[in-house]
Amino acid sequence: MNVQEFNADFHIHGPRSIGVSKNMDLPNMVHGAYQKGLQLVATGDCFQPDWLKYLKENLEPVKGGFKYKDVHFILQTEVEDEESVHEIILMPGFDVLDAIKKKFKPSSSNIDHEWGGRPRVNLSPGEIVEIVVGEGGMVGPAHAFTPFKSIFRQGKFDNLAAAYGNQAKNVHFLELGLSANTDYADRISDLHKLTFMTNSDAHAPSPVSLGREFNTFLAEAPVFEEVELAITRKDGRKFTRNVGFDPRMGKYNVLFCKACRRRVLVETISQAVAVSTLLGGEKYDAEFIHHGVLSDAEYLAYLKRVNAGKVTCPACTQDGKKSRIMLGVSDRVRLLADRPENEHPPHRAKYITVVSLAEMLRVAMGIGSSGSKSLEKVYDDLVAKFGTEINLLLSVDLKTVDMAELQAKYKKHEKLFKTLVDIIQSFRENKISFKPGGGGTFGELVFDE
Ligand SMILES: [Zn+2]
Ligand SMILES: [Zn+2]
Repeated sequence: MNVQEFNADFHIHGPRSIGVSKNMDLPNMVHGAYQKGLQLVATGDCFQPDWLKYLKENLEPVKGGFKYKDVHFILQTEVEDEESVHEIILMPGFDVLDAIKKKFKPSSSNIDHEWGGRPRVNLSPGEIVEIVVGEGGMVGPAHAFTPFKSIFRQGKFDNLAAAYGNQAKNVHFLELGLSANTDYADRISDLHKLTFMTNSDAHAPSPVSLGREFNTFLAEAPVFEEVELAITRKDGRKFTRNVGFDPRMGKYNVLFCKACRRRVLVETISQAVAVSTLLGGEKYDAEFIHHGVLSDAEYLAYLKRVNAGKVTCPACTQDGKKSRIMLGVSDRVRLLADRPENEHPPHRAKYITVVSLAEMLRVAMGIGSSGSKSLEKVYDDLVAKFGTEINLLLSVDLKTVDMAELQAKYKKHEKLFKTLVDIIQSFRENKISFKPGGGGTFGELVFDE
């Protein structure tokens, strides 16, 4: 056996899903994969007829898999089942894809639609699994804890069997989503047997999106059969790393108002503050609602009331009615948890927290958006110098790193690269702080020199 490690992103979208960049094509995906350092990328949306035709014409079949230039690809799509749960499907070849699609088609009105990238398939979660696995593919829940379209969302399923019935045994992986990590998901015993995935769900091929979360697995080659062995942990194949966001950087980490999308920060306060808050009402500003609790028990009771749909927003009304507060991922996990934090099954891959280089540059450059053109130029220069983003963030020796040449090129941004190195250093030392994301707004890195 001759195994080695591969970096892979198993969930992206094709250009025929709403909101996906028109630049999403194989050459751009390969360029993004080079910059990030990925050897295997999912095709995304491979049931959609135009994208499927493009993939059939352009992917080069190799032993057990597919390639474009020297990046491997795996046939992948996401579907929405009749419970509005999103599932990721991986397939070994076009024959299996065609067979699954044929069985889904009578239950889907948009699987062949121009914009049916992620089709709705009106079958139960268990029926989806039965068909996919029966034809030789693999399937597991996507972004499993997000407040919308996920298996464990508020008011939906509490465990795998509740969703998949007797097909739960055929589900071997679960995607954590950007707002959760391994520490969160392993608080739920039911999930210990699964392999966790960290994927990007990218809607653009640039490495700001592609591979913003990725997996490292040990196998002989980055092809379906080996991926299946790694997911089921057989013959020495396995996942070795989940590389992902700090959950607070995700879009749905904390409680939020369904209407105004303010995020709720629950803070433990003293009795004296509680009294003054009662007199003065709950505090809120344009972005955050501050909810004070006196104890952990009170915190939990508050979450249970939110889960039951009984907490309304102090800051806004919708159609004359008070709008509801909804659980973030961290809160939903807390309600499902039957174990303390930091207990992992022996097979669990190590979770490596990354903050994207783009986000670090945004902070170092003191700008609002990580999608700006000037930032992209600096990003490209850094990757050209250090090979890949992953290498710069995780491996380069920061003590001896020489940024003088780059700093000379970007004279306008005084101290840009010194600040960047400081940020990478504090990130490696786990000393970075965050403004948590929620209600659809990403979290932000906060860095004080
Ligand atoms: Zn989804
Ligand atoms: Zn509100």
